[in-house]
Amino acid sequence: MKSLQLKTKLLYLLISVAIGLVVIGLVGYFNLLIMKKNVDTLYFGSLLPLTELSSINTAYHHELESSVYRWKEGLIDDNTLATNITLGLQHVDQMWGSYLSHHKRPEELPYLRYTENQMEIMGRYFEEIRSLVGEHTSKSAISIVRLSDNTTSIHTTISRLISYEISSAKYERSILLTHHENSLKQLAVILGIILTGVLGFAWRIFTQIEIQQQQLVESTNALKHVNIKLEQASYTDSLTGIFNRRYFNLVYEREFKRAVRGGKSITFMMVDIDFFKQYNDTYGHLQGDIALKNVAHVLKTSLLRPGDFVFRLGGEEFGILITDTDCPNARQMAERIRFNVESLGMEHKANKLTATVTISIGAICAIPTESMNNEALLHSADTNLYAAKERGRNKVIFTSTLQ
Ligand code: GH3
Ligand code: MG
Ligand code: MG
Repeated sequence: MKSLQLKTKLLYLLISVAIGLVVIGLVGYFNLLIMKKNVDTLYFGSLLPLTELSSINTAYHHELESSVYRWKEGLIDDNTLATNITLGLQHVDQMWGSYLSHHKRPEELPYLRYTENQMEIMGRYFEEIRSLVGEHTSKSAISIVRLSDNTTSIHTTISRLISYEISSAKYERSILLTHHENSLKQLAVILGIILTGVLGFAWRIFTQIEIQQQQLVESTNALKHVNIKLEQASYTDSLTGIFNRRYFNLVYEREFKRAVRGGKSITFMMVDIDFFKQYNDTYGHLQGDIALKNVAHVLKTSLLRPGDFVFRLGGEEFGILITDTDCPNARQMAERIRFNVESLGMEHKANKLTATVTISIGAICAIPTESMNNEALLHSADTNLYAAKERGRNKVIFTSTLQ
């Protein structure tokens, strides 16, 4: 369930990154479009017209006015002047037509009309000169002062237009710069918002992953703990808390093989509570359980070495396995165990001999061999236990040879 939430969050993260990229792309695209328009307006609206206007000025000065001067000085003949005037006026018309073709703001229009009027007047003036020249009039008929005044006047008029175009170019550039700055700001803000969102999302996902990892470690530990408990429970007798028959089977086989390999003696004791049926009959089953627990406790506390094991084999029967101890010592241990149970002093009226709870022990100590059946030890211990019962109970019958 939680992993599903995590997947959904990751999906949201990817979707928001994708949306963020699309938004940045769109904002960038539209800003570039607007800026292209700004550049076009600057270029076609102001810079190109500027070059056209200065070409007109140049045409008036260098093609028309100076041709008349050169004619006056006799540097060119009548025909050349007439041709120069025709070409110059054509050049002016062409440049002016081209200038007008660009976008014009409404506030420019009155001045444009004024300039156009002035240019028409200039046109007529130069045509007049051309026709005079065509009629081979004397050079003095054309006034230098008038020529100079007219060209100065048109020059001033066009220069004003040039100034106007320069100032609008400056204005266009300032708009372009402002727009450029705004685009950068917009992109920075959007990028900031997207980055904050993505980082926030990623942070939440990573903390969730961390929490889940922590929970996983905790539940794995809990599972290990439960498994250990389960394993212990499967090897433990629930009433007495000592090992059960199942574990006995495991340990017995293992220790038997180990003793065969090491060539060492192993002792197995079969322990049985005396007259226990009568104990139950006298004191009740619950008290019988308490007696079983007490006996188990005595057996357990009487065996302290790591190689000693006590098991409840079933009912009021216990098994004791002693490894790494020689036969004389094991015999002493068996006697001590019997003595410890008797010394517990639990009342058992039906046990005529001692009037306390006692045990009988049938024990066998042997060095097992490869060829030996591992049941043989159990069988001998059982036979010895039977003998101990036969001889009056509260006895240890301990042999070092198999029966
Ligand atoms: P003996 O001295 O020959 O061993 O006689 P005994 O009465 O002890 O032997 P017997 O096998 O006849 O009786 C064993 C009794 O142990 C019978 C049963 O009621 C009792 N017993 C077995 N398991 C339990 C148990 O878990 N709790 C209690 N309270 N009694 C049990
Ligand atoms: Mg019995
Ligand atoms: Mg018994």
